[in-house]
Amino acid sequence: MHNSQLPTSNSQGDRVVALGVVALLLASLGVSLLDAQGAKAAMQQDPACQSLTPVSAGGPAPKGPDTVVVRWLGWTNYEIAYRGEVFLLDAYFDRGPRMHAVGVAPADIRKATAIFIGHAHFDHMSDAAAVAKQTGATVIGASFAGDVLASGGVPARQFKAVKGGEVMPYPGVTVEAALGHHNVIATTVPQGFLEKQAAALDAASLQQPPTDAEKAQLDAIRARGSRDPKIATDGVINYLFTFGNGFHVLFADSPGPITADQRMLAQRAPTVDVAMFPYFSFEAGIPPLVELVKTFRPSTVFLGHHDAEGTMKWASNYPPALAIRDASPKTRTMDVIYRTPVCFNTQSKEMLIGW
Ligand SMILES: [Zn+2]
Repeated sequence: MHNSQLPTSNSQGDRVVALGVVALLLASLGVSLLDAQGAKAAMQQDPACQSLTPVSAGGPAPKGPDTVVVRWLGWTNYEIAYRGEVFLLDAYFDRGPRMHAVGVAPADIRKATAIFIGHAHFDHMSDAAAVAKQTGATVIGASFAGDVLASGGVPARQFKAVKGGEVMPYPGVTVEAALGHHNVIATTVPQGFLEKQAAALDAASLQQPPTDAEKAQLDAIRARGSRDPKIATDGVINYLFTFGNGFHVLFADSPGPITADQRMLAQRAPTVDVAMFPYFSFEAGIPPLVELVKTFRPSTVFLGHHDAEGTMKWASNYPPALAIRDASPKTRTMDVIYRTPVCFNTQSKEMLIGW
């Protein structure tokens, strides 16, 4: 405010110098003001931002070299498309007879650079073996995921085991793994509460109990996952994607107690632009989700894992979104349905919700 006391001519001079400095800074980042203004318009014209077909299932890849397209594909499944690369996060597309259809069957997925598995429970990787075999994509995950893939007939060379700390380079992208922890929500509520909650929801639903054929279908899906108890402490991996000059996308598929590895990751990536975080178990699931948000302070959060069957078990995004905003006022929570393309410009960081 001391500027107001300076002669007008000096004050204007200061402004010109200041604008010049800003322009130089932007230029050094590879951004011109014109580009920043044009990024959203370019995304509006990009077919990848206007199609409901995932790139992995034959949809258009982004034209813009600075465009990242994120699609939620149900539960904690996501697709990230960038230039010629397609990254899949988790692989649980065929979720069984009563679940809402994602609109993409495992057999539809024909193109993937890599598949990143957050942890090896069936509801995060039951279709990983099938998708890996038909795409040839490398699967990345903790060793427990490797065991599931081996029993699904995936060659060992197609699996990369990680424990946290690994850095994986792809064209224009680096991916860093960090060890998380599985959720412990059952220990935060009175004993038997979650079972009672599930029974109450069943009792209040118009849906009939599952038939024997449906139960068999669910058992087959559940068999394509690991139940190793060590997954809780040693098997949950978060992945931090860094696109271009520093657009950060973080994937975590279980909201466990925050680990030392996660705190270190948060320090190394002080700006997380997009995070995919899990939300489930209704009110009991909000506190651990909020802890993740407070640790990473992402600009945008996608929520998954809350879309179980019917209308009563698909938990609303609104209560967690309000809790997130209270805890981190600059974090916005996305509310999109399956396959909607959400495009981000990695330079200007503008967002466009397509379709
Ligand atoms: Zn799990």
